[in-house]
Amino acid sequence: MKDRIDRIVIVGGGSAGWLAAGLLASEHIARSGGDVSVTLIESPDVKTIGVGEGTWPTMRSTLRKIGLSETEFLTECSASFKQGTKFVGWVTGDDDDSYYHPFTVPAGYATLNLVPFWQAQRDRVSFVDAVSVQGRVCDGDLAPKQETTPEYAAVVNYAYHLDAGKFAELLHRHCTERLGVRHILDHVTGINGEPDGDIESLSTGNSGDLEGDLFIDCTGMASMLLGKHYGIGYRDRSDVLFNDSALALQVPYASPDGPIASQTLSTAQSAGWIWDIGLTTRRGIGYTYSSRHITDDAAEQELRAYVEGLRGMNAESLEPRKISFRPGHREKFWHRNCVAVGMAAGFLEPLEASALVLVELAGKMISEELPASRSVMDIVAKRYNDVFLYRWDRIIDFLKLHYVLSRRSDSQYWIDNRKPETIPESLQELLRLWQYQPPWHNDFSQREEIFSSASYQYVLYGMGFETEARGSGPESRSAGEAQRLFAENKQMANKVVANLPGNRELLMKIGQNLSPAGER
Ligand SMILES: Cc1cc2nc3c(=O)[nH]c(=O)nc-3n(C[C@H](O)[C@H](O)[C@H](O)COP(=O)(O)OP(=O)(O)OC[C@H]3O[C@@H](n4cnc5c(N)ncnc54)[C@H](O)[C@@H]3O)c2cc1C
Repeated sequence: MKDRIDRIVIVGGGSAGWLAAGLLASEHIARSGGDVSVTLIESPDVKTIGVGEGTWPTMRSTLRKIGLSETEFLTECSASFKQGTKFVGWVTGDDDDSYYHPFTVPAGYATLNLVPFWQAQRDRVSFVDAVSVQGRVCDGDLAPKQETTPEYAAVVNYAYHLDAGKFAELLHRHCTERLGVRHILDHVTGINGEPDGDIESLSTGNSGDLEGDLFIDCTGMASMLLGKHYGIGYRDRSDVLFNDSALALQVPYASPDGPIASQTLSTAQSAGWIWDIGLTTRRGIGYTYSSRHITDDAAEQELRAYVEGLRGMNAESLEPRKISFRPGHREKFWHRNCVAVGMAAGFLEPLEASALVLVELAGKMISEELPASRSVMDIVAKRYNDVFLYRWDRIIDFLKLHYVLSRRSDSQYWIDNRKPETIPESLQELLRLWQYQPPWHNDFSQREEIFSSASYQYVLYGMGFETEARGSGPESRSAGEAQRLFAENKQMANKVVANLPGNRELLMKIGQNLSPAGER
């Protein structure tokens, strides 16, 4: 076994495989003068999962880093702008029950926590409207930027909704044609190397043995290298997060020029929730549910009823695709010279679109910390495992928060979700603390937290949580500053809403501006 780590082999050509390839290739192939190679092998026989349409704002820096033009990405992937999620029916299920978790942080977030000051006026204005312009931008189906705003820049923070199949195709083309990634379409039939030693090579159907120094397992739920070959255990978290099934539909728009929502819609159901994502060409609508609480047939009926309830939409001729999954993650992600990324590392319901952002963070960390030699790889692996175990735990806490704060009791699913034994101790502690102090920077200590205290604030106060905070009366030292921030936010919201184009309008303009060669 050679000591230098130069040959990176990625197994799997879904979003995880190609994003990892792009991040590694853009960082290492050209800079190493060709010493580092990135090879991606994917099976012609095993389909990609083909869902995964909601992203996180990190996707903008990821795409820019790998050198993709935003115009090309938006056009090729039927992508649209996403500014957050609107949760409907999660608190009581009543007609007026909805709140936003937007991507912009609250006004003054760097220095002043506005929660206590907002609480004094909570009957008059929602938390999101008091501290952010983004709820109103989303209400108007508006874009997060102007036509003249540069690529990847924003008026208000945004991510994307995208067509997962088209995204993998675009990344494939970009990585092989512009970044020097070698692509092999073949099935991996065996792994050479003892389970207690490093992987030396992969046996393939028609391409001989494929040698490498570092192997990245992006084989989806199969987890062929880390799970099957190395036998790294799976931490099942269905005790906390019950959803283990999904039914997915692709629904045509009622009219080709109707508005495109600028946020993911997440609507609570009797045993889960329905996602509704507007792309430029269609809507992606699906039901994520707990098979312990509802049958597939009953879930399908709820899904169809949701689609029928949308103006001009019809689900009669559409057949949903069923996907089963086991909520949880591997006990570790990097073992010897193999690291698992994407579904091969684990999966949790897509409530906050946390899967692709984890792939981006994984690709980034592997790329930034790529061990130069085998002798230091175990040190990097240990760090990587610590960071990612922390991240999975934080995501589990944050997803569970949405269920714990619900007051719905109309089905066993919602009642079971609030049972104390299903709530991680870490989340219970935070909730106890937040009765007396609102979420703030000290609650989360990592540099790249996926869900910062800003996200917790939006969900907690969107769902009616109350904090008995100290020092927020009119006599408080920061009261004047808080009132100034509220007033500024209101003014800014009026201005932004009056000036931003519609989401569809801007996306259509961007599409028209793309020449056939794919250049602006
Ligand atoms: C219902 C649902 C909704 C989701 N929604 C979101 C969302 O909104 N946002 C989000 O961020 N994520 C979402 N996800 C997750 C997201 O879809 C995945 O994280 C993402 O697509 C990455 O998948 P992957 O590349 O790991 O796996 P896959 O797409 O399954 O790819 C696996 C690859 O491995 C290859 N392979 C397998 N076996 C072999 C073999 N023996 N030899 C060679 N190649 C092999 C296959 O050919 C394929 O190319 C969702 C997932 C589900 C199930």
